[in-house]
Amino acid sequence: MPDDPVPADARATGQVILRVDLDALAENWRRLAARAQRGAKGTECGAVVKADAYGLGLAPVARALLEQGCASFFVAHPGEGQELRAIAPQARIFILNGLPPDACPLFAASRLIPVLGSLPEVAEWAGFCRAQGARLPAAIHIDTGMNRLGLPAADLFSARTLMADFEPALAMSHFISAEDRSSSRSRRQIELFEQARGKLPPMPASLCNSSGMFLDEPPFLDLCRPGYALYGGNPIPGFENPMRRVVELYAEILQIRDVEAGETAGYNARWTAPSRRRLATLNLGYADGFLRSGAEARPGVQAFAGGKFCPVVGRISMDLSIIDISDASPLRRGDRVEILGPHISVDELATRSSTIGYEILTRLGPRFRREYVSNGQ
Ligand SMILES: *Cc1c(COP(=O)(O)O)cnc(C)c1O
Repeated sequence: MPDDPVPADARATGQVILRVDLDALAENWRRLAARAQRGAKGTECGAVVKADAYGLGLAPVARALLEQGCASFFVAHPGEGQELRAIAPQARIFILNGLPPDACPLFAASRLIPVLGSLPEVAEWAGFCRAQGARLPAAIHIDTGMNRLGLPAADLFSARTLMADFEPALAMSHFISAEDRSSSRSRRQIELFEQARGKLPPMPASLCNSSGMFLDEPPFLDLCRPGYALYGGNPIPGFENPMRRVVELYAEILQIRDVEAGETAGYNARWTAPSRRRLATLNLGYADGFLRSGAEARPGVQAFAGGKFCPVVGRISMDLSIIDISDASPLRRGDRVEILGPHISVDELATRSSTIGYEILTRLGPRFRREYVSNGQ
């Protein structure tokens, strides 16, 4: 696959190719689902598909996961939940950002499960259920240190009283730094979560995001909520990635030119040729999520072309970027260049861009030609 030419129609429209391997995604979910079962046979593996399934496309990703038997999904916004409901009529859909004011009817109409994170949210859901005469399900978010969303321990008693009016479907909390396996924070959060659960009626519980599932003693509990690892991100930075690659991104060479020592390239002349160099201009820029800050970061972003890693030189423009192909085997206008793929992982590009893979994925641009590969096709 990496040596395929850019398809003729994509070349004609000037599009960068984003390939999403739905088979790899499905296998990643199966691996995580098997891992979740190490805790207890009944532990369920859900999927976090917020932000358009981390930029990969909600509909194709959700369909592939449904096919594997995934039955519980998490999104951030109720609007995302409505979109998912149309694709997944039977699934449980949790709304991580909680309950906006006056949104109860919308939640009920689409059977969305709010992850209630404050007393006003709990009270509003309870009041709505009372008025409807229906104990609708809701999850309870317990804050164990993030101070972002979730009920503090002091509010649990009041929440408990209100919970009589609805169905407490899940107690959950979120790790602050689960990707750091040696951090004592995760252990502390697990303790706080268990203490908090003791103050609430019995209900299923969930703590693990992707990295949480790879802690030394992961609290798999009843339900796991992986996102990043499903999409091929490494849940254990610094160790070999246990997940399969899902995303590949290929730009195209628009022009090739030779520059002499001392010439500059790109806006504000931020790069000066140290010697005679051969440069290629690519059809990929910051409007496509190829972060402008990436070229400024150290060790700096690179592409893979002509059998070599080729550094990006100069500033990344909105629609274009420039790479140094002097050391690569001969390349031509129209040749394809790997930005993400077998040689460059999402985590690698992120590190070189001074960010995290989550941001790389969720910024993947709207202009790409998206190709979804399934059953090897
Ligand atoms: C985004 C999110 C997840 C998924 O996290 P990953 O690190 O992508 O696996 C799980 N739980 C909550 C509350 C989240 O916001």
